[in-house]
Amino acid sequence: MKDFLSNAILYEKRVILEDYKVGNKKFYTENDFNKITFEYYCEIEEKNTTFQLGLEYPVNRFEDSNIPDSYFIKEKLDYVFTAICTCQSCKVQKVYFLLNVFSDKKVSQKIWNPDLSDVIDGIRIDEEDANIWIQKVGATPEIKISKNKIVSKFLDGESDTFYYKGLKALSQNLGVGSLAYVRKIVERELLNIVDEIKNLPDTDEASIQKLLDDYEKSRKVSTVYHNIFKFLPKSLQSLDINPIFLLHDLTSGGLHQYTEEESLNIAKKVMALLEFVILKINEEKSSLNDMRRIVKELRRDQN
Ligand SMILES: [Zn+2]
Repeated sequence: MKDFLSNAILYEKRVILEDYKVGNKKFYTENDFNKITFEYYCEIEEKNTTFQLGLEYPVNRFEDSNIPDSYFIKEKLDYVFTAICTCQSCKVQKVYFLLNVFSDKKVSQKIWNPDLSDVIDGIRIDEEDANIWIQKVGATPEIKISKNKIVSKFLDGESDTFYYKGLKALSQNLGVGSLAYVRKIVERELLNIVDEIKNLPDTDEASIQKLLDDYEKSRKVSTVYHNIFKFLPKSLQSLDINPIFLLHDLTSGGLHQYTEEESLNIAKKVMALLEFVILKINEEKSSLNDMRRIVKELRRDQN
């Protein structure tokens, strides 16, 4: 929930409760969100601070065992409320979110008293396995697009511009648009990434160089990406998939073979994976630099 409030962009849907059961008594109403704290940017103090969510209209406890009809649309939970979030540091900055909470399948309106004839051990027998979701459908001030500084520094100037534009397109849910930008970044940067990986301490430099030399002859770049996995440092093998090949693979299809929604989905995954790879490279590099500094200091101390 905290991560959702801090980082989710408009219309980004997140699951907040899996496998809803009668008697869970959570997130049925806006009251369950009251007083949640999360990190957010305070424009007055110009830094991230802790914000606390407050409600415009807290609801009273329902008198009977039913959630009112107004929280449901066609038997699915579906309601919207305004969250007024206040900076706990200056107590002045406010951020407003319009939040939509909904279930993906039908859920019961009877929650306060699961002791009903069609309920066994708190599980309503005619109930499907529903998940509860949340999304921001409005935000003031406008949600800022924030580039990851390490990623931004890693990319060259033009790729960095595509990075910003890609994030902006993602924040506006432009599927084909955002996929076009992440594709450009991957096309421009993937060989640089391989080159950076080659120079990391925990990699097989000679073998990666051989892949690159073979590529010079064959011009088939996908072979490099496909075969690099076993030479990657451990941290980049940790996903049990080849992240380099996956980046290439996800961005090498035709742009118009996907629908808006499919494109958006792919673009989000590529962006997350790209950031992951670059951050891992950076981590490995900085630990190497730390070690070099220590060795240097050791040598100096010995002299
Ligand atoms: Zn503040």
